Amino acid sequence: MNNPTETNMGTESLNFENSMPLSVWPIGPVPFGCSCCQVLREIVHTNGINVTKLEIHGRLGIICHAILTDRSGSTNAVAPGHQYQMFDFCKKSIEYVKQFLSQYCFHRSQTGYVIVQDPLSGFYEALCVGFLWDENFKNGDFMQPSSSHAGGFRMDQPGNSNNRGKHPKPSLSIQRERTRNLTLKDIEKYFHLPIEEAARSLDLSVTVLKKICRRYGVLRWPHRKIQSMEKQIVLWTGKLNSNDPEERDRAAKIILKLQRGITKIRGGAR
Ligand SMILES: [Zn+2]
Repeated sequence: MNNPTETNMGTESLNFENSMPLSVWPIGPVPFGCSCCQVLREIVHTNGINVTKLEIHGRLGIICHAILTDRSGSTNAVAPGHQYQMFDFCKKSIEYVKQFLSQYCFHRSQTGYVIVQDPLSGFYEALCVGFLWDENFKNGDFMQPSSSHAGGFRMDQPGNSNNRGKHPKPSLSIQRERTRNLTLKDIEKYFHLPIEEAARSLDLSVTVLKKICRRYGVLRWPHRKIQSMEKQIVLWTGKLNSNDPEERDRAAKIILKLQRGITKIRGGAR
């Protein structure tokens, strides 16, 4: 068979100015050449002095590599400027990448770094509606995922007797007991969500959730407060790339403070 790049396969009529012969399609992921890469995500951490950024490169559905930028603060005379490191994921499974990123984030948090709110988190959240993450199911006996309708949140409403076989609606007494046993810790995890969404995730009505909150002295659902702090973090994150080292330091410190504030509201330090 002829090499299509060397023969003019009778395509004169398709010879537009933006056409370009390709020797191979699809183009394989190349570890070092970034020409086909898109930055899929940036994971930024700060300890208030230093900022690290892990850029994850690839294309939709493919993760090629990650580039770590360790931008040491201006106060660090030992390693001024930028340090780059590349992690190749070309022949690795998606599970490997997930493990790597979990370990990376774990290592950062162990060394005193906090993750900076991703400016695109709203974008990813919107894209991932309907995904059932493991975290949602760790604590709820009544939130077991079922393969039959993985991909949708539960629509059980009070008085809805039309239940699916795999999701038996808990009896009233079991629900009451569960409500009694819910601790502040159980609820705090949902403080970043609007109360309606939190109630749905907890499989409770808003009224019941409000009642439980009052029991623990939470008089105002903290979602709005957290949201406004997250917005400030996004604003300051932009300044982490500033050429002015003082501004970068200031941004890192403010972000750290805001992140700690959010962690505190969500029960990280009570
Ligand atoms: Zn790349």
